[in-house]
Amino acid sequence: VLFNHDLANEFNIDSLDSDKRMNVLDGSDNDIDYFAQAYAGHQFGHFTILGDGRALNIGEVIKDNTRYDIQLKGSGPTPYSRGGDGKATLYSMLREYLIGEALHALNIPTSRTLSILKTGETVQRTKEHTGAIASRIARSHLRIGTFQYAFVKGDVDLVKTLADYAIEKHYPENKDNYYAFFHDVLKAQAKLIAKWQSIGFIHGVLNTDNVLISGESIDFGPCAFMDYYYPNTVFSSIDRFGRYKYSQQPIITSWNLSKLAETLFPLFDNDKEKAINKANELLKSFEDIYTYYYNEEMRKKLGLDQPNKDIIDRLLTLMENHQLDFTNTFIKLTTNDVSTLKDLNGFSQWYQDWKALITDHSKATRMMQNHNPRIIPRNHIVEEALNAFAFEKDDTPFNALLELLKDPFNYTKTIPEKYQKPNPHKSDYVTYCGT
Ligand code: AMP
Ligand code: MG
Repeated sequence: VLFNHDLANEFNIDSLDSDKRMNVLDGSDNDIDYFAQAYAGHQFGHFTILGDGRALNIGEVIKDNTRYDIQLKGSGPTPYSRGGDGKATLYSMLREYLIGEALHALNIPTSRTLSILKTGETVQRTKEHTGAIASRIARSHLRIGTFQYAFVKGDVDLVKTLADYAIEKHYPENKDNYYAFFHDVLKAQAKLIAKWQSIGFIHGVLNTDNVLISGESIDFGPCAFMDYYYPNTVFSSIDRFGRYKYSQQPIITSWNLSKLAETLFPLFDNDKEKAINKANELLKSFEDIYTYYYNEEMRKKLGLDQPNKDIIDRLLTLMENHQLDFTNTFIKLTTNDVSTLKDLNGFSQWYQDWKALITDHSKATRMMQNHNPRIIPRNHIVEEALNAFAFEKDDTPFNALLELLKDPFNYTKTIPEKYQKPNPHKSDYVTYCGT
């Protein structure tokens, strides 16, 4: 159905013979030892043994001397399927493809989809779906949950082997230093979440099994981008208590990291109390590190030389009070097109104070253009495109949207208005897993 030539080119795998490629990507190539990975995880706070229930690792591909995992999703049952069918729907794999490409174009670390094949089967969810197998590429598929799995086995050597592997693969500059490793993961997560927040991305299911040690985004089920700025935004139909709402993402990430720390205590120090104290110290630093990255992202969105918490907070309050679209407000500031904002209560003063902070206007504009996307995958547009593709065999809306999402910081090209408009039915948007 889809092959990501841009991505394949990056890895020099675009030239594979097409029959071979098809066999590799539908999981039937006899030369490959496909394998499912074990992991565990806290799902909405509850610990569970999980594992790749519908995914198979193919192996690794190399770019710039760096190894990446390549993995199938929807390839059928595995020992970890737990009663699930091991399958994926075309609809949800198209969604992963689109969101991955959008995040990548927004300069956010992410797993990306390489291919989507139809299986020819019907997959039963809340309705009948077309079955599909996707392949995706990520630095690795090691999750916080992978460490939790090794930890509950009660085998410290296993945790150590896993940690050594993860360090060598992702953070090689700090070999044999497990504190430093934990700190590296913490920093990568803080940076990732700061980037998500800065573009209004809500993952939806930030369980520890959906958090990668590499600091990349993964598993885009009920994720969505925020239209109107409202910190309590929660889209996911399965998140009834707002555990993973927009404003909670940094907080829950810190909680998720505490679960990683628990698995590493024995490697931190033989003295458990010392290990816990040290872990707590590092965990406490999350807030400052996250705030640093977040303020940096917001600084660039406002074209400032120095971060300024007051000017950011006041803008967000204005957005919330006046129910302004998050992305479009930043576009208006970037293009200096504030005619629709200037009469809003409190805006003029804020605008004046903001402008007073800018010294070099053309430098500020360039910075803002590079950090304020003109287009994001808005939910209602995404769904329209996915429904047409998956249920009406019409890939035109999907391809049109994908092309625009690949070039979000282009301030010269024309973007049809419908892509930039927020959801007209603003209050009650819900996304369903539909996996
Ligand atoms: P996810 O919500 O996609 O992050 O998946 C959570 C867990 O459920 C993972 O262990 C998946 O492998 C497993 N899972 C999700 N969907 C299926 C399915 N259709 N069949 C088997 N396992 C699944
Ligand atoms: Mg998952």
